[in-house]
Amino acid sequence: MTRIEQVETLIVDVPTVRPHVLAMATMYRQTLCLVRIRCADGTVGIGEATTIGGLAYGEESPEGIKLAIDTYFAPVLLTCDANRPAAAMAALARQIVGNHFAKCAVETALLDALGKRVGLPVSELLGGRVRDSVPVLWTLASGDTGKDIAEAEEMIDRRRHNAFKLKIGKRSVADDVAHVAAIKKALGARASIRVDVNMAWDETSARRGIDMLADAGCDLVEQPIVRHNRAGMARLAARSRIPIMADEALRGPEDAYDFAARAAADVFAVKIEQSGGLFAAKRVQAIADAAGVALYGGTMLEAGVGTIASAHVFATFPALAFGTELFGPLLLTEEILAEPLGYGDFALAVPSGPGLGIALDEERVAHLRRDRADRPTISIAASQRT
Ligand SMILES: [Mg+2]
Repeated sequence: MTRIEQVETLIVDVPTVRPHVLAMATMYRQTLCLVRIRCADGTVGIGEATTIGGLAYGEESPEGIKLAIDTYFAPVLLTCDANRPAAAMAALARQIVGNHFAKCAVETALLDALGKRVGLPVSELLGGRVRDSVPVLWTLASGDTGKDIAEAEEMIDRRRHNAFKLKIGKRSVADDVAHVAAIKKALGARASIRVDVNMAWDETSARRGIDMLADAGCDLVEQPIVRHNRAGMARLAARSRIPIMADEALRGPEDAYDFAARAAADVFAVKIEQSGGLFAAKRVQAIADAAGVALYGGTMLEAGVGTIASAHVFATFPALAFGTELFGPLLLTEEILAEPLGYGDFALAVPSGPGLGIALDEERVAHLRRDRADRPTISIAASQRT
């Protein structure tokens, strides 16, 4: 038995490189809840939870995640064996309903610590990686067509991304599709163009919009309608010429099973936080594989820790037809890792060192943490415009 001696959480605010415009929020910063689990043998595991626009996307917020872990998770974890992450997660599940994002951050830290202890990457603890890098797309979300095209051209030139996701749903269907069509026309066969509606359309708008997007050369439509309208998703998937992907609707293996059974999506966006952890994300993948649903590695716009935890999971997927969107750290102005993640050749390298294979830049984290004693409070208030 290796005792868990301390569970520490901290809130870190990092500005984004540009306003990130989604249907439900415009992000000017990302807030991380970092988790550090110290074990009796000296190993320390790290994990991360993030949300999109505070409470705009899901039911957990970074501040709520910190509170939940400090108050309810930590006392349970202090009784657990750090060598048995699955048993620790089961102990937490018996006492804590939901809280998927918090559970994911804690499971990440437990697996990071175990990997460091036994000298294996987290991907191997999850059953074994089948690839050493994962393709990464970029989201064009400035809201301006000309700016988005210029940004995409630059990304293609730098060989950083050649697949792009456009966040739509804030404007009229016609305006949104015109935006998508202009970008596809400018980039042509050099790039794959997908859209994420983030649930902003009703079903009739979606029917019309998806037809128009297919004509515009769009390759994938993500979560066009509200998450609970599964029958509607099934109807859209049945009639669409291009694949329909479920994202917000997939909050764990049970949702994945129901979506697969209803043929309510052609593609699943797998997110470790939304799924409820790394192993839960693996269960979503298994259901998709069994049902013939294609896979895509999603992001909650995590910084380096959550992004690389996701990459370890996606590296184990036998098929990853639509790649990933693990670009979270590239959207942030500050690096929280001692060594930045390896982006290049349209992909993200999955580290091969023990655990997550990364380390925090402790000085940067200390500087960015919200409770830093000398932090000017005005910068937090000013960036609260989601
Ligand atoms: Mg999405």
